[in-house]
Amino acid sequence: MATKFSRLGFIGLGAMGKHMAEQLAIKLPDGVKIFVFDVATPPVKELVEKYPGKVIECSSPKEVAEKSDIILSMVPEGRHVASVYLDEATGVAAADLGKRVLIDCSTIDTATSLRVKNYIAEHHPAASFYDAPVSGGVLGAAKGTVAFFLGCDKQDPQIGVLTELLSLMGKQIIPCGKPSLGLASKLCNNYLSGLIAIASSEALNMGIKTGLDPRVLSDVFAAGTAQNAICDRFNPCPGVVPDAPSSKGYEGGFKVQLMKKDFSLAVNMAESVGANMVLGQQGLKTYEAASNDPKCFDRDSRVVFRYIGGDEKWADKFE
Ligand code: NAD
Repeated sequence: MATKFSRLGFIGLGAMGKHMAEQLAIKLPDGVKIFVFDVATPPVKELVEKYPGKVIECSSPKEVAEKSDIILSMVPEGRHVASVYLDEATGVAAADLGKRVLIDCSTIDTATSLRVKNYIAEHHPAASFYDAPVSGGVLGAAKGTVAFFLGCDKQDPQIGVLTELLSLMGKQIIPCGKPSLGLASKLCNNYLSGLIAIASSEALNMGIKTGLDPRVLSDVFAAGTAQNAICDRFNPCPGVVPDAPSSKGYEGGFKVQLMKKDFSLAVNMAESVGANMVLGQQGLKTYEAASNDPKCFDRDSRVVFRYIGGDEKWADKFE
């Protein structure tokens, strides 16, 4: 492996970040150092103990930035990203950044991402900042198969380095055009995927109530014009796709609260650019209510089937 990755930084070792940082620790050779920081200590200690001498704990994002050439971040929301990069005392931008490459993989609003990018460009003109949100969930992060949506074009001077590094954690790297468009792509994707989950739940629910076996109905969708990845792989109706979170009590998968967050970011983005939406507010209300419903909270977002009153015991009616 090229020595260009000898000093990496990773900030935010949560459900996604810990696995992504671990992929780097597994795949990069001895001698490479990965400097990590998280406000929570348990995931930091876990990785440091698992990869002694390779994963090294830091006391702030600034220290990570001082010690690394390329810094990745994976934190929950825009306010966390702003604090990680812009905090005057402890932030990444408080370090002397030189030509460092900064990659934020968090799913946040485009305005905060551009604010961070512009601040870096103004105060550290030789450094570069990229939005690179991911799709593929915790399972994809653990397997190193996520997709990255990059906020730059194919001709970007860092595209080679970015592709090589992100390929250690993911299968697909898609340059989306320019700064913040990686995030815009991610939000468009989750808006569409969230709406498909609601529509699929409604269609399956009405089908079951008319006497249709949801397995047959899902075969019909797969063969017809309604074919979609949610029904094929994450079917909201339990028992149709055995490996889907719905078939395991909606455990695992993409939490309904995260879908609410992303859906809300997407609706705000659409409003800010004057894009007309027929379903946006209705979808948002659905995910807000499902997130607040104790039967759905913390479950996979396809729990909207349960939220709308879908019959989870449908199998009793069929042989
Ligand atoms: P998480 O809450 O599990 O982890 C976030 C981590 O960031 C935590 O360990 C937290 O302690 C840390 N953190 C928070 N503020 C910090 C700060 N100021 N400095 C350093 N560390 C800080 O969240 P997650 O599921 O890993 O998601 C992270 C991001 O990835 C979110 O934007 C989410 O929308 C996105 N995402 C999540 C999934 C998923 O399936 N979980 C999939 C795709 C994208």
